[in-house]
Amino acid sequence: MAGQKTKGQKCSFCGRDKKDTLLLIAGVEGHICEACVEQAHEIVDEELGSKSKSKSNYSFNLPKDVTPVNIKSYLDQYIIGQDESKKYLSVSVYNHYKRLNQKITDDVEIEKSNILFVGQTGTGKTLLAKTIAKFLNVPFSIVDATVFTEAGYVGEDVESMLSRLLQASDYNVEAAEKGIVYIDEIDKIARKRDNPSITRDVSGEGVQQALLKMLEGTEVNVPPYGGRKHPEQKMIQVNTRNILFIMGGAFDGINKLIAQRLNTHVIGFNKANKEFANEDNLLKYISHQDLKSYGLIPELIGRMPVLTYLDPLDKETLIKILTEPKNALVKQYQKLFALEDIKLTIESDAMDFIAEKALDFQLGARGLRSILEAILTDAMYELPSQKEVTNFIVDKTYAKKQLQRSAITKLKRA
Ligand code: ADP
Repeated sequence: MAGQKTKGQKCSFCGRDKKDTLLLIAGVEGHICEACVEQAHEIVDEELGSKSKSKSNYSFNLPKDVTPVNIKSYLDQYIIGQDESKKYLSVSVYNHYKRLNQKITDDVEIEKSNILFVGQTGTGKTLLAKTIAKFLNVPFSIVDATVFTEAGYVGEDVESMLSRLLQASDYNVEAAEKGIVYIDEIDKIARKRDNPSITRDVSGEGVQQALLKMLEGTEVNVPPYGGRKHPEQKMIQVNTRNILFIMGGAFDGINKLIAQRLNTHVIGFNKANKEFANEDNLLKYISHQDLKSYGLIPELIGRMPVLTYLDPLDKETLIKILTEPKNALVKQYQKLFALEDIKLTIESDAMDFIAEKALDFQLGARGLRSILEAILTDAMYELPSQKEVTNFIVDKTYAKKQLQRSAITKLKRA
């Protein structure tokens, strides 16, 4: 409606002012607001008997006969390794649905099982959350805890995380209320440990406090388009009681806290005692107590009862990630090449090399894609105009040469 006069516009059906609506659609001689569109839609559905067609296809029950074992098998198709976290996630989602359908006949009420994944970057935390949402066919959104600040400061209110869930569900509140929110980088809102008495910890304790209620379950006024709660933005009420919150964070340095608690000496860890470092991921001993020492407030910790860890990815796992998942990266590139009638082969020495580079970059599996892209870009640029090529083989020498030429070698994590 750019350039049109907006002042004084009203919905011609209900008479609401433009400023009180979310959306006002202009017709030839009048306007209609989103609420009237919906109402009209319902009337049409009722009259024409097509109500079932218009219902969203989200489901609020677990698929029939599903067990935690089936859920994990599904996750296995997309996520390599990480058995412990897959098991925890499967059980907790399974219980979440039992809880949704519980009939409270006695004093026992099953509580929510929000989950916290602790693990280095690029090890599959987001992928786990995304994959489970796909399996369950519920609205899903990913938010980054670092954008949140306490009300009154620059940044977003925590409520805005639900805006994304609403958007993901096409503003179907009922669906959003049973969706999944993945909150990434939850460790970044930890209270600064070196200054526990800080009074204005904008990014820390205040945000944790704001998150508390939401995780537990409450009615939240959500700004439909995110950002701050502006008075002119009409809020949508969302109840978070049945929303499953999955949280993830790297919690850099928490190993030391775990080791301290376990009374293990961490000195020389990773250097002198490499074998120990390799086979013993200290994160597997993580407890809620360590989160508290890290700077999460106990009330918040209490609302993430399921705590599990991810393993760092070693070379073999990275190679598997390249080739094994249903939509593995190598399969994706092979498909791209196949569309040009070219058979792409990545030899095993090249695979080794790619995995080693990814380890160097310390970005977990996240580095794999950028490395493959750097290696294959020249080929993807040139081959479509060389119709005679039907086979393209990447060996270690070629991979190394291509990678050296690209800027990606600067990718290494600071
Ligand atoms: P995190 O959230 O732990 O930082 P992500 O889940 O975003 O990491 O992973 C980044 C990318 O790396 C994903 O898109 C996925 O392709 C890949 N990846 C990471 N871990 C795994 C894994 N265990 N199995 C398969 N792919 C993985």
